[in-house]
Amino acid sequence: MRHRIAVVGSGPAGLTFARVLHRHGHPVTVLERDPAPDARPPGGTLDLHAGLGQLAVDKAGLLAEFQALSRPEGQAMRILDTDGTVLRDWLPRPDDRANPEIDRGQLRDLLLGPLDVQWGRSVTRVVPGGRDGVLVHFADGRREAFDLVVGADGAWSRTRPAVSPVTPHYTGITMVETSLDDVDTRHPGLARSIGDGSTAVYGVNRSLVAQRNSGGHVKVYAQFRAPLDWHAHLDLADTEAVRSTLLALFDGWAAPVLDLLRHGTAFVHRPLHVLPVDHTWTHVPGVTLLGDAAHLMPPLGAGANLAMLEGAELAESLASGPTDPDETVRAFERRMWTRAARWAGITTAGLERLVSPDPAQALALFDEVQPS
Ligand SMILES: Cc1cc2nc3c(=O)[nH]c(=O)nc-3n(C[C@H](O)[C@H](O)[C@H](O)COP(=O)(O)OP(=O)(O)OC[C@H]3O[C@@H](n4cnc5c(N)ncnc54)[C@H](O)[C@@H]3O)c2cc1C
Repeated sequence: MRHRIAVVGSGPAGLTFARVLHRHGHPVTVLERDPAPDARPPGGTLDLHAGLGQLAVDKAGLLAEFQALSRPEGQAMRILDTDGTVLRDWLPRPDDRANPEIDRGQLRDLLLGPLDVQWGRSVTRVVPGGRDGVLVHFADGRREAFDLVVGADGAWSRTRPAVSPVTPHYTGITMVETSLDDVDTRHPGLARSIGDGSTAVYGVNRSLVAQRNSGGHVKVYAQFRAPLDWHAHLDLADTEAVRSTLLALFDGWAAPVLDLLRHGTAFVHRPLHVLPVDHTWTHVPGVTLLGDAAHLMPPLGAGANLAMLEGAELAESLASGPTDPDETVRAFERRMWTRAARWAGITTAGLERLVSPDPAQALALFDEVQPS
């Protein structure tokens, strides 16, 4: 196989795809819109599941490095009532490696390794069916042709329109993210209540989740049901205005819980959009999608795992498959759609229960999925 292969996006999907191809000695062009790896904060922590994300890391030959970097203790999960009462306090066994956490930045650097990503290459359009192959159009007006273009460019993919007219829709649930730094030194009480992993508080139609990252960094996610324009009269860049709006929204919750919002630094607005659970498309020769570009789903611990496994599996199949990659891609798509639809169903139902009019639903869900 010596086809001209490009992957759009250097998120978990694109990097895993490129890294596994690289491992098999096959060249791949990685096109990334960001001007540099550190151009924006990498985001929070990811739990990589055995059999999904960890399998992908293994296929990239990076399992030992992943195990050295990841935090099995980060699997710990505590649930508080809105008055601060501890309802559940689950700790992993010392040998539990089912879903260890890793910072996104660490995972990105691990996958990047020797890859030669083309930074600052913002794709605007992908046009299949040309005489010279699939044409990739860039924001700077340039164009480049490839035999296979893999769209791993996330929720608002510019590759997706080449295969599907579908766009993400709003779930009715919004997330606002904030962070705490040096939590053990600056906020020792909060640090103790968060522990080594995550602490979640579920109320009526809203939740607060705090997740420990490495280096004393904590990400806090406030989730609530609201219309998409809930912030119409709020300047989202005004940290204090967002803070007081959130504090009003979570009014009545215990003071130590609200400290997660009181001490948060900047706030990032992330309305939760999804693609339809059964999103598929008629196969288009020379173009396919991976990860969120193919199956954006609620952020409940599956998206990056699927994105990585898909990247690894497609790369392995292309490296070992027939000379015409099209059959390989068709077979891959069928497998991806089946698995992704299952997870999209699980996470969609999960989100409905976690941000629910009946907070007992969240606790019941935890009891169903958490090993005793
Ligand atoms: C708060 C939160 C927590 C989450 N926690 C978890 C978790 O614990 N476990 C889990 O499995 N999943 C989790 N997810 C989901 C996970 O983040 C995504 O499913 C995953 O990042 C998808 O990877 P991806 O590579 O498909 O897309 P992305 O991570 O979105 O990467 C897309 C890449 O493409 C680039 N790009 C975009 N447009 C263009 C363009 N036009 N041209 C060139 N490049 C472009 C972007 O800059 C980016 O680098 C979480 C999501 C959120 C929001």
